[in-house]
Amino acid sequence: MLLAFSTAMSTLIGSFYSTYQVQKEQLTAFTLRSNLAYAQKLASATDNFLESALQQLAYSANVIEHQTDDLQLLNSEVTRLNLQTKSFNSVVVNVNGILAATSPHFATIIGQPINTPGAIEATNEKRPLISKPYMSAAGNLIVFISHPLFDSGGSYLGYIGGSLYLKEKNILNALLEQHYHEGGSYLYVVSSNKRILYHPDAHRIGSLVTDNAVVDAALNGKKGTSQVLNSKNKTMLAGYAPVASSGWGIVAQRPLKVTLSSLDVLTIEVVKRTIPMALITFILIGLFAHFIARPLKRLAENADTLDDPQSLEKLKAVKSWYFESHRLKMAMLKGVNILQMQIGQLRHDAQTDPLTNTHNRRSLNGLLNQLMFKQTPFAILEIDIDFFKRVNDTFGHDKGDEALVYLTNIIKKLSRKDDIVARIGGEEFVLVLPNEDIKSAYTIAERLRTTVESSKIDTIGHITISIGIATWPDHSNDIDQVYKCADKALYYAKNHGRNRCVIADVN
Ligand code: GH3
Ligand code: MG
Ligand code: MG
Repeated sequence: MLLAFSTAMSTLIGSFYSTYQVQKEQLTAFTLRSNLAYAQKLASATDNFLESALQQLAYSANVIEHQTDDLQLLNSEVTRLNLQTKSFNSVVVNVNGILAATSPHFATIIGQPINTPGAIEATNEKRPLISKPYMSAAGNLIVFISHPLFDSGGSYLGYIGGSLYLKEKNILNALLEQHYHEGGSYLYVVSSNKRILYHPDAHRIGSLVTDNAVVDAALNGKKGTSQVLNSKNKTMLAGYAPVASSGWGIVAQRPLKVTLSSLDVLTIEVVKRTIPMALITFILIGLFAHFIARPLKRLAENADTLDDPQSLEKLKAVKSWYFESHRLKMAMLKGVNILQMQIGQLRHDAQTDPLTNTHNRRSLNGLLNQLMFKQTPFAILEIDIDFFKRVNDTFGHDKGDEALVYLTNIIKKLSRKDDIVARIGGEEFVLVLPNEDIKSAYTIAERLRTTVESSKIDTIGHITISIGIATWPDHSNDIDQVYKCADKALYYAKNHGRNRCVIADVN
């Protein structure tokens, strides 16, 4: 049972474990893939936005670059750019290093020279540009998108540009915030100089990201997935993609713990639903183990007492319902049969005189004890062959033995079913007559004596016998005394001419 139980248990635990592992791998892989897909999607959306912003600026540049003196035109164009779409938080026109128009209208800085990093970069580069993030003159953290202005002669005049205020509501974060933030998943955008442009935690916007393999990869123009530790030392499943037009990188990530928490719930649910089935299995294992072990247990219990006379019956009663136990039972039954037969034979041998096949003295004593126990009165005839020595001397020991067998047959023939015939010494026999009184015992003794006397044995001729007779309990209540009485009577018969029956004196 222990074996079956532990096997079932380890199989169960093993299957739970492997199911958990497989699901964990699948869930992790799925989350990584979907984060990559999301990062790519937003990278391309960001790209589209930036390109359309540059396109709008290019269009306006075309409108104004030949009439940069027309302040009204410049104002109406910056206002249109700022208000027509929500692409920019503010729009400016810079002509010859001086701010010519702004929207919204910042009266204090119009007409002033400007040298913010964005302005310097745009002036230096003289091409459509998306700046690195920097702090503006008005104190906003911004990304500046600009388009150069050239006069009809092709000389550089300045630029028209729009700002995204990274820390305020802007079109970029409006786009990115659509991301589903539940369960700790989030997305952030990093500029080419590793400054955070967008992060759901607004405090982190503008801060530097170092030692982040995922960010480095995205900024190197690669896309992919990775398991990383975030700034709070949490393991994250990250997908990353580059924004081609600006050299930015976008990372979408979800904590591993959150991803796997649904798996824990699932696993607990699976375990819960498995428990009834497992219980039934364990009960069945218990029952089967019990039924398989039972015949073996019974057989083993009987193995110790195979010499018990009842063991045959006990073995037969064992329900050996399967092949092996049946074979064991059959083998044990066979063994017990042989054993019992041998015991029976030994018992018979121990109780039988081998020459005449009558009871021996030990057996006789047992039978007499039984009679006494049952209070059955009996007579003892102690029979001795006369001059048997002579028979032996004359005809040989073998012929003497034949005579003993011959006499036994006569005694047996004359005795009844309940009578006991025993050979207790060399040529001495005892015939026990249950329920016979002294008179009828004498009659029977006489009949025996005369029958022997008148019989002729082929090889040796005639023999005679003398018989001493005593009874229990009339002569004595003690069986030894009864024997002694019969002995005395026999002795008397021998001394008074032999070939006679003598009843013992009652003491
Ligand atoms: P008695 O009339 O006084 O009985 O004379 P007996 O010669 O029979 O004397 P006893 O009873 O003392 O003799 C016993 C003899 O029986 C001795 C032995 O030769 C013989 N005898 C004893 N046992 C056996 C036996 O198993 N086979 C044979 N053939 N003879 C035996
Ligand atoms: Mg004798
Ligand atoms: Mg004799």
